[in-house]
Amino acid sequence: MSLFARHALLPQGWRRDVLLAWDAVGELTTVQDNAAPPDGVELAEYVVPGMVNLHSHAFQRALGGMTEKAGDGPDSFWTWRELMYRFAGRITPEQIEAIAAQLFAECLRHGYTAVCEFHYLQRDVAGCLYARPAETAERVIAAARASGIGITMLPVLYSHAGFGAQALQPQQARFRTDADDVLRIVEALEVQRDGQVEVGCAPHSLRAASIVQIREVLSALPPERPVHIHIAEQQAEVAQCLAATSLRPVQYLYEHIAVDTRWCLVHATHVDANEIGQIAASGAVAGLCPTTEANLGDGLFALPELIAAGGRFGIGSDSHVSQSPVEELRWLEYGQRLQRQQRNVAATPAQRQVGDFLWQAALQGGAQAAGRKPGALAPGCRADLLVLDDDHPNLCGVAVHDVLGSLLFCGNDNLVRDVMCGGLWQVRGGRHVAQDAIAAAYKRTLARLRAL
Ligand code: ZN
Repeated sequence: MSLFARHALLPQGWRRDVLLAWDAVGELTTVQDNAAPPDGVELAEYVVPGMVNLHSHAFQRALGGMTEKAGDGPDSFWTWRELMYRFAGRITPEQIEAIAAQLFAECLRHGYTAVCEFHYLQRDVAGCLYARPAETAERVIAAARASGIGITMLPVLYSHAGFGAQALQPQQARFRTDADDVLRIVEALEVQRDGQVEVGCAPHSLRAASIVQIREVLSALPPERPVHIHIAEQQAEVAQCLAATSLRPVQYLYEHIAVDTRWCLVHATHVDANEIGQIAASGAVAGLCPTTEANLGDGLFALPELIAAGGRFGIGSDSHVSQSPVEELRWLEYGQRLQRQQRNVAATPAQRQVGDFLWQAALQGGAQAAGRKPGALAPGCRADLLVLDDDHPNLCGVAVHDVLGSLLFCGNDNLVRDVMCGGLWQVRGGRHVAQDAIAAAYKRTLARLRAL
């Protein structure tokens, strides 16, 4: 079980003639540069570590393209959310599994090898817990296993409709959990944990979970498990938090909770300079979802300020209007260029190649947020890697330091040719190995859902 790369992106940068070997549980055992290819070993030109998708609501994949019609007044995140609620109200566990499998296969084809599922659709259509309290979470994990992607399942704590413990609206009944519900679901998922599956938790937001509840969950959750939260996606959310607490969301969270490296602050979109400093100093990961944040009209995150402060970040596809890390990273950079009227923003004096900086930084942040061991071509990490299509004109004859620039900023062809996850090839020649069966189940599911 080995692969020989003429060029591979290691934690220290691109290296030549790299022999990669992995074991039966899917972990890299050897990463040796300046090696000679052993007889019979598979050869690849460019190998990079697979990307982590640190924020996903898998069922929303089925909404893609269906919420792009203007209403009577200005449309916003909040009107989009009403459409999402209507859809979420009728979907079954079997349908969640079929949609998630399609999504994860697509994510793999585009270069994600791990996903963090922020999972809040946990009750049945009547608003009751399933006989198996982790029923829908187990379905998403089953979809991850069927596709071969690594997953961090984050059952969501979702108790309130707004600050001040406002009662949930009827259309939020399927999301309702209290601290006990979440801990029961986490416990039910313990048997799922292995090299490909980790379990953490996610207070939905400071709107939907109180500080008391967050503390209750944290006190019972094993200490190293990841904790994710939607923190400051919308200006209205910041205003509501200020009105209720006199503090902005990040300030309020840090005032009451010891936020550390297990935390991922998703959509840290609206933060001031002090909050950027707090996030960076805590070692928490800022979870950025540029295509969804653009689609929902959220706003732009102050990425250069976080980078300058030594902060950590990663990317997620969130509502899945895109399933490609290329598009997330491209728009992460392009948003800054448009706003600042500058070029090559995401870089540091030590790493001036924007593509290399973005890939490595988002990967490290994503791996931390996942609480698993993807994130690097290094012994002990998961054997999660991408072989790029060196036969494609975009990569033909380019210098190795321009490979990731070409991947991220040139055209829309998918340059990911083969994808290995946990030591198994899941994509070969641009096709997922179970693509036909997964797509057929997805199409049947969508036909039924759209007929309702
Ligand atoms: Zn989200």
